[in-house]
Amino acid sequence: MSTESTPTTESHLRLVWIYPDLLSTYGDRGNLLILARRAALRGLGVECVEVRSDSVLPEQGDIYLLGGGEDGPQAMAAQRLAADGGLHRAVVRGAVVFAVCAGYQLLGESFFAKGVQYAGLNLLDIRSDRGPSRAVGELAGEVNSALGIPTLTGFENHGGRTHLGPQAHPLAKVSVGVGNDGTTEGAWRGRVLGTYSHGPALARNPALADLLLLWATGITPAPIDDTWPERLRRERLTAVTSR
Ligand code: GLN
Repeated sequence: MSTESTPTTESHLRLVWIYPDLLSTYGDRGNLLILARRAALRGLGVECVEVRSDSVLPEQGDIYLLGGGEDGPQAMAAQRLAADGGLHRAVVRGAVVFAVCAGYQLLGESFFAKGVQYAGLNLLDIRSDRGPSRAVGELAGEVNSALGIPTLTGFENHGGRTHLGPQAHPLAKVSVGVGNDGTTEGAWRGRVLGTYSHGPALARNPALADLLLLWATGITPAPIDDTWPERLRRERLTAVTSR
């Protein structure tokens, strides 16, 4: 993995993993690996760039990834991203953003960390407060039909609750777990999508990975052999819905 952006040819897909030193708890870096693998299987050249929080965010990425994190690192990441400004410019340019949990919350208008309210990046019309208890456990839901992907499955671990404004579409309707607020889970607008699902989310939901690849390339990814991911999905969904 490189730590700096290097010039690439047009056919390269540039995946940017934002602040691994702050936001890579819960194995969310797996989302980067899944995207890289699924892109490579479609014959795409892939460049993975990991950008630590003391570095400038490259603006020419195709897909930007944010992971989960504890409250302190989450607040620090939000402040550094706001000061950097590169993620805003990338979104205006049409880049894809996929964010999980702390990364998802900080894309919104505001969130709470350690009892203090912080400004988010305003890239999604959401705001987060704290819930009565920590939401920990399996998470599943029926994905918004506009996205054309099957049941979302994942694992959640967060104290925040997220409320959507009119400019954000819910990603899914919760069937197991809490997600945003016990009713909906995740949100998206344009090519910016967030979820509470760890797992990693794109390992457990390969169709979501392919949706991000479609958004980034404009080309529907060719079918690949998903026998094993499908088996994993069936096992997890059977386990959580039969409890
Ligand atoms: N710190 C946030 C919360 O507890 C996000 C946690 C996480 O990323 N898992 O709500």
